[in-house]
Amino acid sequence: LGGSIARALQQMSNATIIDEKVLSECLNEISRALLQSDVQFKLVRDMQANIKRIVNLDDLAAGHNKRRIIQQAVFNELCKMLDPGKPSFTPKKGKTSVVMFVGLQGSGKTTTCTKYAYYHQKKGWKPALVCADTFRAGAFDQLKQNATKTKIPYYGSYMESDPVKIAVEGVETFKKENRDLIIVDTSGRHKQEAALFEEMRQVSEATKPDLIIFVMDSSIGQAAFDQAQAFKQSVAVGAVIITKMDGHAKGGGALSAVAATKSPVIFIGTGEHMEEFEVFDVKPFVSRLLGMGDWSGFMDKIHEVVPTDQQPELLQKLSEGSFTLRLMYEQFQNILKMGPIGQVVFSMLPGFSAELMPKGHEKESQAKIKRYMTMMDSMTNAELDSTNPKLMNESRIMRIARGSGRSVRDVTEMLEEYKRLAKIWSKMKGLKIPKKGEMSAL
Ligand code: GDP
Ligand code: MG
Repeated sequence: LGGSIARALQQMSNATIIDEKVLSECLNEISRALLQSDVQFKLVRDMQANIKRIVNLDDLAAGHNKRRIIQQAVFNELCKMLDPGKPSFTPKKGKTSVVMFVGLQGSGKTTTCTKYAYYHQKKGWKPALVCADTFRAGAFDQLKQNATKTKIPYYGSYMESDPVKIAVEGVETFKKENRDLIIVDTSGRHKQEAALFEEMRQVSEATKPDLIIFVMDSSIGQAAFDQAQAFKQSVAVGAVIITKMDGHAKGGGALSAVAATKSPVIFIGTGEHMEEFEVFDVKPFVSRLLGMGDWSGFMDKIHEVVPTDQQPELLQKLSEGSFTLRLMYEQFQNILKMGPIGQVVFSMLPGFSAELMPKGHEKESQAKIKRYMTMMDSMTNAELDSTNPKLMNESRIMRIARGSGRSVRDVTEMLEEYKRLAKIWSKMKGLKIPKKGEMSAL
């Protein structure tokens, strides 16, 4: 897939005369790739038309960076399509919010409810889970199991068959307990589809959620638009979460879900485990959609961002697939050394942006990075250079906490941040390290 886009752009750059026909051929090839990534046909067609309008043929004919111009135009257009223009409702810590999850059975709702709760709990929230799926046998048990594992309070019933009643009771109970994030899991199947949507409408009406999140499996293909639209037509969907992004699907359905619900994607699920949950970041997502991996222009960025003398070692380590704590430490040092601009510059690297250094929270990010570094100062060389994730056992974590005057929870958070970055950066394994002057456009 990546190959076909690369090939299309390559043909483009080889053509001596850039005329409308060549541009069309190139766009057709890219469109085929997008369709294979499950982007809806109509959206692909719109994108094509927009690109033709935007890309100036004279610029292409005159410029040398033809590939870059087209690539950038397609990239920007897709990013724009993922932005519905207004942010979703964001719950505030300490204030009660009710968040209802909807989506078809098997889409990952129950799992995602808990991931969402757990994500916030780690940040100091007091979440709670309500099981309003009375249709599927075992639904309550599943939620209970997830909730127990993550120590999150839950509400549900084996006897009651009225989902509206349970939802209301659960929400009321947790409101009284001053829980600040009350999450309502719902059913995803009914004997008749219409009954499911009617039930969603009733649960929503009765619990008055501040936010309704539509959960969608990334592998559902071209069905994404209709499915998202069906939910949007029955309840006020305000955000989207795409699950199973760890599988083969490239997630083109996300564009459909955004278009159909006019709501942003806020998180993606990347595995069955509680931690496999990431804040949605548009650019790496679009890179993946285009089959460029998350690594479009990665080399260029490394060269721009990391000091020259550190580059060979970093690239070598990344190509071996060993992103160590020391490498993370060095990048943190680089960020701080650059001052305020450091964060802006580093947010160009995958994994550094949305989660670690969210826009508008520069001060907090700076403090967080310093805190992480203090804890890492209490680590041994062996720990900093280790590539064995099992090395950091409980006693080591406790020693580091004591040594740095931080809590075990802080150290665990830092290590999780490391794991998150390491997971993203491990995709660089096997990377061919280009010699100077060999930077590729793709
Ligand atoms: P629900 O029917 O919508 O509540 O879906 P569940 O939460 O029960 O999930 C259905 C299946 O998908 C379960 O086996 C989950 O473990 C799995 N699942 C959910 N999210 C993800 C994900 O992000 N990645 C992977 N690989 N599996 C997931
Ligand atoms: Mg479920």
